[in-house]
Amino acid sequence: MRELHREFLKAGSQVLQALTFFGTREKLTRSGYGEQTEVINEAAVKIAREVAEGRALVAGSVSRTQLFERQGPSAADLVRDLFTEQVRLLQRARVDFLILETFFRLDEMLIALECARSSSLPLIATMSFRPRITESSDGHSPAECARAMMGAGAQIVGANCEQEPKRMLPILREMREAVDIPIAAQPAAFRTGDETPCFTRMPQFPDQLETIQISRQEFNDFARTAKAEGIGYVGGCCGCNAAYIRALARGLGVGDA
Ligand SMILES: [Zn+2]
Repeated sequence: MRELHREFLKAGSQVLQALTFFGTREKLTRSGYGEQTEVINEAAVKIAREVAEGRALVAGSVSRTQLFERQGPSAADLVRDLFTEQVRLLQRARVDFLILETFFRLDEMLIALECARSSSLPLIATMSFRPRITESSDGHSPAECARAMMGAGAQIVGANCEQEPKRMLPILREMREAVDIPIAAQPAAFRTGDETPCFTRMPQFPDQLETIQISRQEFNDFARTAKAEGIGYVGGCCGCNAAYIRALARGLGVGDA
């Protein structure tokens, strides 16, 4: 993990994202690590901080619990407790801000924002659109999601994962029109199709993803478009290694890239 953070920093990252994705107690319990919830969240932030050494900001990642998909909205109270605990751990480990990401449902995102707000940390909130790019899985358009997330306390809103940069652009443009706060985008590096605009539903997922990997040039092009269109926070999600971040940094003209 330390070496990965070093690679991203060297590639031009201005933010190192601590690997706390799916780090709520219930998710960790499913894989046999529930009792180490504190240790895992704290260590992930500490490693990122040690590499950053003041040269980059460190963000804590908070993602969906999957309990809404499994149990429906009756899971809300448990979900609230899980997010509250993880936010407290990340704050105690001294992240600079939080990224709430890869939420398929707006209702769960709004609970996460409610819990994250109590930390007083700056908040980025990004939804993932699957199986359609026109609405969240609980039926809200990108514009509605953007307005609701802003209303719930996010300082930056946007989208991450599931689509390659080009296919994510319509989502981002709709959000850009809907709110007057900065927009964030962390696209995937896999090509999707009109029929299936999300890589996790593509037939190549998960064992043939190499065959739909997009080029680094597309991340370079995306950085230029994003900059021109006022999409102010860009990064990469699934399929991106440091070489893609290097291409992004080049496109933005940041660092020594
Ligand atoms: Zn992803």
